[in-house]
Amino acid sequence: MNKKHGTLYVVATPIGNLQDVTLRALTILKQVERIAAEDTRHAAILLNHFGIHKPILSLHDFNEQARVEAILSHIEQGESIALISDAGTPLISDPGYHLTRAARARSIAVVPVPGACAAIAALSVAGLPTDRFVFEGFLPAKTQACFNRLSILQHESRTMVFYEAPHRLLATLSVMCQVFGEAREAVIARELTKQYESVLGDSLAACQAYYEAHAEQLRGEIVILLAGHQATALEEKTVSPEQVLSVLLAELPLKQAVSLASEILGERKNVLYEKALAMRAE
Ligand code: SAM
Repeated sequence: MNKKHGTLYVVATPIGNLQDVTLRALTILKQVERIAAEDTRHAAILLNHFGIHKPILSLHDFNEQARVEAILSHIEQGESIALISDAGTPLISDPGYHLTRAARARSIAVVPVPGACAAIAALSVAGLPTDRFVFEGFLPAKTQACFNRLSILQHESRTMVFYEAPHRLLATLSVMCQVFGEAREAVIARELTKQYESVLGDSLAACQAYYEAHAEQLRGEIVILLAGHQATALEEKTVSPEQVLSVLLAELPLKQAVSLASEILGERKNVLYEKALAMRAE
């Protein structure tokens, strides 16, 4: 790291409840020379609330690559900059990837100031396994593309986490029912940390029925969590070549038993023939 350079701080901000800002986030936001924010007006409201008045640079999905150079040159001249997004942790379905990557490539210190993240907040209360999970972010808006993306996850055994817009929730649940089956367990975490927070856990079909009956609740911000695929006893069952051969050898001549075992196991006949001979000799 170049000591003359400033630091790029990646600072998480609240996802609803302003009291979720961390003490360190406030300290860093007060300490840096500038703040890079997704939406400058939105950032100004948050920063004013905490009495922080700093020059704000805009950095959003559509200008990020073009703004990287300007931001990094400030840092290379010794300024420190804090990157924030509209809510939660920057880079998590938010801008910042190009900036942090370019900063690291230029040996600029990139320091995390962790805090709220909707995906993690939802996982922490969903009651689904959290030892292994996959974050899938936003699904494609078009139904066929959404179906294709979800189909890749059909046999995913880890808990899956999606971000979704309220007006798309019913359509997404319907595609999920097609791909994962109506009985798959889901959790809809809505408006976390806010006044109308709700966490609904049920089968996909029941979640869909609930929101069909309560269309007035189809607003706010939503995380969908989906239980992973659980292998059935049949899918988990594995048999050894010896087990297959011993059943077949008990009923059939050696050549036929080996031929059938080869078809069942997808193994070469000569390998199975050797095994069968060894088993006969025992
Ligand atoms: N960077 C953010 C984070 O750390 O969670 C996520 C930003 S992404 C553009 C916004 C999406 O996050 C929303 O559409 C929603 O899916 C989810 N989200 C954000 N705040 C939320 C909240 N309070 N409750 C539920 N979901 C939320």
